[in-house]
Amino acid sequence: MGGRPRWDWAQLHASFSEALRCTRRRVEAPGGVEALVLRVILDNKASLSAAGKRSWEFILSNLRDPVLDELDISQLRAALLEWYGAQGRSLPWRIRPEERGDRAAPDPYAVWLSEIMLQQTTIPHATPYWRAFLERWPTVHDLARAPREDVLAAWAGLGYYARARNLHKCAGVVSNELDGVFPADLEALKALPGIGDYTANAIRAVAFDQAASVVDGNVERVISRMFALETPLPKAKPQIKALAGALADPARPGDYAQALMDLGATVCTPKSPDCARCPWRRACAAQAAGVQTRYPLKDKKKPKPVRRGVCFHVMRAGGLWLRRRPETGLLGAMMELPGTDWTEAGPGDGDVAAAQPFQGLWRDAGEVRHVFTHFELRLTVLSTEADLGWTPGDGAFFEITELDAAGLPSVMMKAARLGIRAKARLL
Ligand code: SF4
Repeated sequence: MGGRPRWDWAQLHASFSEALRCTRRRVEAPGGVEALVLRVILDNKASLSAAGKRSWEFILSNLRDPVLDELDISQLRAALLEWYGAQGRSLPWRIRPEERGDRAAPDPYAVWLSEIMLQQTTIPHATPYWRAFLERWPTVHDLARAPREDVLAAWAGLGYYARARNLHKCAGVVSNELDGVFPADLEALKALPGIGDYTANAIRAVAFDQAASVVDGNVERVISRMFALETPLPKAKPQIKALAGALADPARPGDYAQALMDLGATVCTPKSPDCARCPWRRACAAQAAGVQTRYPLKDKKKPKPVRRGVCFHVMRAGGLWLRRRPETGLLGAMMELPGTDWTEAGPGDGDVAAAQPFQGLWRDAGEVRHVFTHFELRLTVLSTEADLGWTPGDGAFFEITELDAAGLPSVMMKAARLGIRAKARLL
């Protein structure tokens, strides 16, 4: 059996509409809404297997119009876009509706830069970096030609340094292979280094005003509350994506995507949503039930494992010894204070002795803590003075007054400063 699955459309439509009604009105469906939808899937499992396991998203995308008929979608779109026109955020890489006359279109290079920086960073933290990058490298050709060390040093403090390496690689590809023109096509964007599904969609929406599914944490929160979704994240992602897509305005997809993100960032905030200011308050199921902050439901996070290590803070004549990390792996190609491996067991005395650059009088300067995506690091800093005659095998001494320009990642900057403070206390 091939081709389209033999769904019982009438039953699917009826059951799924019922499921959505229950969700929105907080009516208890027998066994819960998920059970209801599951029952529909099981009732149709012959078709399901013949079709090769269709997903929730498939069902939603096929049924979203009848499901959402209950809401006045055009009214929701109009209310959201009107709110965006009056109260949406002004961001430097964005062209707001009222600016369209003066500035024809956003610069895809500037938008791409902002989206890469914002992948793991807040807007207030990323914005000065974004401005500095554009001032120093105004075009993608300038960035592609820049030495990678300069790009990594300018990125220092933004974290997740693989992004900086990919940023430079991507600039090279766009400059050398695409004549400096960023593509608007989803797959072509995703083929570029460092651009995943979310970033590609965000670039398409913001830079090219294309219909694109841009679902960040803000959008997840708004949609979960609007529909009082009982499925926890991350399992609810496809459902949220489909619902956000169904509500999107085909005439202004870029503004819609940005408006929805702004609504989550400024009104539908995690702890105290300001529903009185919300353009969607009349349609919002969580608001109607007075349980806004219950959503989005989330699977419990496992605590992060703790890894321990030791690093060596070696100073001489006002300089601090730094070297470059290996190309690949965590903090790849960034500057560092040399040290042991970072492990959950922590380094033993033998590991510390083997990693020390020379035998000396090492003082314990204290410990720095830093949270990475998958673990928390506790790094003990051992400090000493090097003899004038000692020559480091690799790296060099950097003036401590110029450490900001050395391109140290945050964790290493913390360790450098801790060692400098400890030394100052001894003087
Ligand atoms: S009404 Fe309140 S909870 Fe619902 S989407 Fe708006 S701000 Fe969020």
